[in-house]
Amino acid sequence: MVKIGIPRALFYYYYYPLWRAFFNSLGLEVILSPQTNKAILDDGIKTTLSEACLPVKVFFGHAMAVAEQVDYLFVPRITRVEPKAYICPKFMGLPDMLRARLQNLPVLIDTVVDAGREGDSIQCWEDCFQEVGSIFTRDKQLVDSSIKAALQAQGQFKKRLNEGMLLPQALEDIDVAEVAAALQPHLTLKIGLIGHPYNLYDPYISMNLIKKLYTLGVSVVTPESLTDNEIEDKSNKLPKRLFWTLGKRMIGSALNFYQNRRLDGLIYLTSFGCGPEALVEEMVARWAKQRDDLPLMMLTIDEHTGEAGMLTRLEAFTEMIKRRHKV
Ligand code: SF4
Repeated sequence: MVKIGIPRALFYYYYYPLWRAFFNSLGLEVILSPQTNKAILDDGIKTTLSEACLPVKVFFGHAMAVAEQVDYLFVPRITRVEPKAYICPKFMGLPDMLRARLQNLPVLIDTVVDAGREGDSIQCWEDCFQEVGSIFTRDKQLVDSSIKAALQAQGQFKKRLNEGMLLPQALEDIDVAEVAAALQPHLTLKIGLIGHPYNLYDPYISMNLIKKLYTLGVSVVTPESLTDNEIEDKSNKLPKRLFWTLGKRMIGSALNFYQNRRLDGLIYLTSFGCGPEALVEEMVARWAKQRDDLPLMMLTIDEHTGEAGMLTRLEAFTEMIKRRHKV
């Protein structure tokens, strides 16, 4: 059976159900790289430029981890997933960066995904899959039915997220779900956790941030629980529209969380070396100054961040909130 490799990084956290359903329905085997570990991170660091952000380094490590086991590596060249806004340039250049830096890669499927016009956010994936499907079959009906299966799977995934399921649960990673269920009765605080899903939900690079918060008695709400419309509505309140899709998601989520009176605090997890985030971070920090009842903590991670230091900061932050509330 033909094997398709998918690196467990970056847009995996947004689109894996879509991709998996499409390839499986076409009759191909999907091989996912393992969870991030030290070897994967070290490989990523060795093969990328030092200027790359941490998530891109992690992506390289994952591509290497799966490359030898597969016939094709799926690295779509994602440019726009909605009209009038762009994905970070590092995503657009991923296939080129991989080719430039890694030897002996399997065939890269780097089909362009570009939602240029109104209503294209789904159409761009249909166009991509039509092109990808033609690599493997001439059966147009099979490609069409695989696209339908893929869109259904993605719709169910988004529905599970909007119903409040944490992303790893929605992706059927039960590890986090088990911990959450076990600690549920002891959770006394609720914190809005802002950040890209490839940082928040990668247990290795986030140093198990979500689990740590659970063990400190904190439940979390993340941008994934908001609908696209909720995020868009809030980000549209800015005097000037942001043209980075991921930055818009962070701004829209932060504004939504700021207006959510049931939250006890906010944590914003960013990665060192992220260009688009430099602006968003500053805006969120300014809003924080206007709401002294909702404390904000910024956590910036890179490959050198130490787990003990992060835990100390989380403990101090949650303790400070508990004292304010006298929990
Ligand atoms: S948005 Fe930032 S963190 Fe994400 S890939 Fe681009 S530069 Fe890296």
